[in-house]
Amino acid sequence: MNYSIYSNQFIPLYEDFDIIDRIKLDGEFSQSLTGGGISHLNIGEKLTSIRQMKQLIEYSIKAGCEHFAVNYNFCQCVNNHIAIAGPSNTCPICSAPIKTQYTRIIGYWVPVSSWNKGRQEEHKKRVFKKYSSSTHSSQQMTNKKIHSHMNP
Ligand SMILES: [Zn+2]
Repeated sequence: MNYSIYSNQFIPLYEDFDIIDRIKLDGEFSQSLTGGGISHLNIGEKLTSIRQMKQLIEYSIKAGCEHFAVNYNFCQCVNNHIAIAGPSNTCPICSAPIKTQYTRIIGYWVPVSSWNKGRQEEHKKRVFKKYSSSTHSSQQMTNKKIHSHMNP
């Protein structure tokens, strides 16, 4: 990327990172913040299980995340189907082109097309994981990789 983005994330949202590992690291790092932080949990599928949602919330609290948000990315195709998926160019229901994508920013939903160009480019690279396939195992992130994210 050749533009800078002000961020409140330790692990950029465009990194393909396991949800549980993101929670672990965000929880650990947020302990050193004095101004607060938020862990964006980008989920690429609708969570329909109360048990799953409860597990995700309890795990985030236990990990030390002061604030966290479960984020979906809604895609609306030219045939007006609305589906939850990561950023996509085609509808997962009918394969028609996507006309509008929506995702949450600071507690509300806006069309991604209303974002500045840099944010729109970054949004295309965001990864929305299937929570049901999260490993719950620790993925080690090297200090070098963390350092490169925090000091681009
Ligand atoms: Zn469609």
